[in-house]
Amino acid sequence: MQRRDFIKNTVFTTGAIAFGSCKEEDPYAEREYKGQIAIIGAGAAGLYAGSLLAEKKANYTIYEAADQIGGRIRSLKGFADFDIELGAEKIQGNRSLWYDWVKESGASFVSNTSTDFYQIGNQVLSEAQWGNNADFKAAVSLAQQSMNYSGADTTLLQYMESAKLASGVRHIADALVANPHGTSANRLSVLGTAEERQAWSAGEGEFLLANRSLTSVLEEKFKNILPRVVFNTQIKRIDYTNERIMLEDAQAQRRYVDKVIITVPLAVLQSTDLQFVPALPESKLASIRGIGTGAGIKVILEFNQRFWDAATDSVYTSGAIPEYRVSSNGRSTKSFVLTGLTMGEKAEALSAQSSAAAIQSIIKELDVIYGKGVASGALTNARLMDWGKDPFIKGAYSYPIVGGGGLLTRQTLSLPVQRKVYFAGEATHYGGHSGTVHGAIESGRRVVEELYRDVT
Ligand SMILES: Cc1cc2nc3c(=O)[nH]c(=O)nc-3n(C[C@H](O)[C@H](O)[C@H](O)COP(=O)(O)OP(=O)(O)OC[C@H]3O[C@@H](n4cnc5c(N)ncnc54)[C@H](O)[C@@H]3O)c2cc1C
Repeated sequence: MQRRDFIKNTVFTTGAIAFGSCKEEDPYAEREYKGQIAIIGAGAAGLYAGSLLAEKKANYTIYEAADQIGGRIRSLKGFADFDIELGAEKIQGNRSLWYDWVKESGASFVSNTSTDFYQIGNQVLSEAQWGNNADFKAAVSLAQQSMNYSGADTTLLQYMESAKLASGVRHIADALVANPHGTSANRLSVLGTAEERQAWSAGEGEFLLANRSLTSVLEEKFKNILPRVVFNTQIKRIDYTNERIMLEDAQAQRRYVDKVIITVPLAVLQSTDLQFVPALPESKLASIRGIGTGAGIKVILEFNQRFWDAATDSVYTSGAIPEYRVSSNGRSTKSFVLTGLTMGEKAEALSAQSSAAAIQSIIKELDVIYGKGVASGALTNARLMDWGKDPFIKGAYSYPIVGGGGLLTRQTLSLPVQRKVYFAGEATHYGGHSGTVHGAIESGRRVVEELYRDVT
């Protein structure tokens, strides 16, 4: 079964919490604000917030810790004969601003007619080939049912255990549900995931760009505001005690603004990297703790020949990498590139090793699946992107945890403090689109609306 069909079969009803996803009227179009606004972070949320402020002729600057825009959208050039996405790659759903921008950019999508393969034991077979294998069917069906779950708040792993899913196929549900949600089965709240899925309103399908990178789409879309981005400026302290807010960067340089929009990843808010004076209210701190985020790794492997079935789109394995995609499909006729994605516990284990050792152990696993020396003998190039080790990202993306409070907790995270400190970014999306680029973009619009709502 294609993952696209999996997602299509299991979502989507319109959410209970209003959180627009397509073009909407600006409710505060007539309001003007002359104060100085700082945006912290030039990822999708910060850039879109900046472009909306530019439309309103506001006085704003974007401070970015890294030396490039995009945040968790980052493209790698020169590895193969097409650009590789180290972070976000799929446009999830066909009803969002992000989808519209990508279409407007003239990008074409990879047409996906290929098949997903699943490892059970040491065998990798397609869904059709697994045919009536009862354990396989039970794993796929549990993954689908988890999207409509309404029982007690448990982890996906506990849900699998109580459903008595055979241990030899649990990795399939893990790979289909937990891994794409940014973690592993022992950490993901199945209730929270179902709540987010049911609130989803970004349409159907998953789309991969065939002929350009996501970074290039962002650069083109936001070219007019790029001069407003101040790079290599990590904000370390936000002091909102007085009328004007003081921002101090890692070089102890101070700047004074009237309002600040924070779009840094949740993992940065959970760390001690960014200090607030006075401390954020307890409800805000509880919301920061009440949402999960953790390790996430993408591994890019180039081979001099294809050793997987020609029909392969994805391979779901029981090893360190729950999902491999053939990322050269539809993008190159010369390269053979697999992209592996691993989140949560398995990503942590890989992260504890050096990149070279991690890649070696991953290749060993592929040798077990495809035959002794097959993958290792064909490997020509490898790159491991460990998002947890990126100093300004510190993890993958946010996910619901057991006892975390679900979408209401995300809403609390999104609330401004004292009409001065505003919050955006994927983790603040309380309409079911967290952990996605379009969710980050929608949060950028939400935060600008909130800021102007507070202007009288
Ligand atoms: C491996 C991986 C795969 C993914 N796959 C997909 C996918 O296929 N589809 C999808 O829709 N989404 C995917 N995502 C999620 C998506 O990338 C994010 O949800 C989205 O890009 C987040 O945007 P953002 O603006 O909220 O945050 P970010 O993009 O993280 O931007 C925050 C910015 O803040 C900066 N910053 C941090 N601290 C400071 C500071 N103190 N001072 C100044 N700047 C600071 C950071 O450098 C960063 O540029 C993936 C993410 C990862 C990691």
